[in-house]
Amino acid sequence: MKYRQSVSEFLKESKKGNIDYSDFYAYVAEQTEKNNKKFDFLVTMPDIDEKTIKTISKGNLKGLPITAKDAICTKGIQSSAGAEILKGYIPPFDATCISRIKKEGGIIIGKTAQDEFGFGTFCINTALNKAKNPNDISRSPGGSSGGSGIAAAALDFPHVSLGESTGGSISCPASFCGAVGLTPTYGRVSRYGLIDYANSLDKIGPIGKTTEDVATILSHIAGQDPMDSTSAPKKSEDYTKYINKDANLKGTNIAVPKEFFKDLDAKVEKNIRDGIAQLESLGANINEVSLKMTDYATAAYYMIATAEASTNLAKYSGMRYGQSEKIEDHFDEYFQKVRSKYFTEESKRRILLGTFARMEGYRDQYYLKAMKIRTLIIEEMNKVFKNNDAIVGPTMPIIAPKFTEIDKLSAIDIYTIDTLSIMPNLAGTPMLSIPCGTINNMPIGMQIISSHLNEGRIINIGSALENS
Ligand code: GLN
Repeated sequence: MKYRQSVSEFLKESKKGNIDYSDFYAYVAEQTEKNNKKFDFLVTMPDIDEKTIKTISKGNLKGLPITAKDAICTKGIQSSAGAEILKGYIPPFDATCISRIKKEGGIIIGKTAQDEFGFGTFCINTALNKAKNPNDISRSPGGSSGGSGIAAAALDFPHVSLGESTGGSISCPASFCGAVGLTPTYGRVSRYGLIDYANSLDKIGPIGKTTEDVATILSHIAGQDPMDSTSAPKKSEDYTKYINKDANLKGTNIAVPKEFFKDLDAKVEKNIRDGIAQLESLGANINEVSLKMTDYATAAYYMIATAEASTNLAKYSGMRYGQSEKIEDHFDEYFQKVRSKYFTEESKRRILLGTFARMEGYRDQYYLKAMKIRTLIIEEMNKVFKNNDAIVGPTMPIIAPKFTEIDKLSAIDIYTIDTLSIMPNLAGTPMLSIPCGTINNMPIGMQIISSHLNEGRIINIGSALENS
């Protein structure tokens, strides 16, 4: 196919003026629609008309199609965070990452399916889509940025999707769908215009087919933003310079925590161990380490994330955004009616859990304790980074499960599945999930974590593995 190029090949041709955008975007629309019928991965698909095509004239991402998680606000296109309560909300502004993409000539071709507000691991906690894994439609694509994982893996034209991660929502769908997901350092990419899940954890990052594709996009969305006071005071850089063309990892120290191999599918473990052996054969020194706090990560995360989420959700009351009902009765009853009707069961569970965790009398026991654990996790990881360039392990302990298997899991079972991707999110460190073998055609993901603001390191290691 003439458009089966990598992002960098496409951009090279695009800059030279060799792309017929009308023809290209006709192909993009046809393929996107075809895949959406099969995998239901888009909440909204704007029409890319001739007028838009005519605006493609310059920029470092000239004419590149981009999809974005539904929680990322896009001017004039519904942005509902996968939530029925926000159906019909059309932002009058662009999130900073979107305006940066547009400024460089990228085109937003769709808003991707997700668990409502990011609450989930399987993309099932939403009334808006029934997203399916492109490798096997009886299985989940992962969550919460499931639609972005599908888009990255299934669309056969040059394209990158913007996902969002609070506790692994970029890594998980990348791992389950067979794509590369880059979750940057907390603060590296502006959160302005993101419909919040948990503000102290949320990160926006790209999911694509290769490390080079995601590195290209990160280069254009990273960097301080006056609209987000938590964005790191550091200019962006060209992350593609870290691509390891020679697949040489001499002198790279990689830590493998033994706790990352507990409660793991044996075949997933075998593939990840083979991947680590491959890193060693490329010259890396492999050091076994212990991250004892791994055992407490999930409990701490679900206290902190739900505490923050429950306050963020207070604004959805049928008054300002999205859905509303006929206004009658006392305002408390009205809010109750709207919230009972439109929130999913999982959102209700998290509102209750989060409100409880920060209530007077319980705050010390739950929320503050969780915050202490978070500090210990950061300290423990920083200690490992003193002698190591990266930490490597499985992204998820299983391959993408079947929907029928998920039906049998309790909420706690599902939360526990997130443990490994939660660790770097709590610590605010960057991580990359890259494909590392398959089991019966179902992809497995390896995660590579580095210290704060060291995205270059994980790009270097991930691309070495890809190029070997
Ligand atoms: N599965 C995790 C949760 O449900 C992570 C979600 C996310 O990163 N947005 O909270």
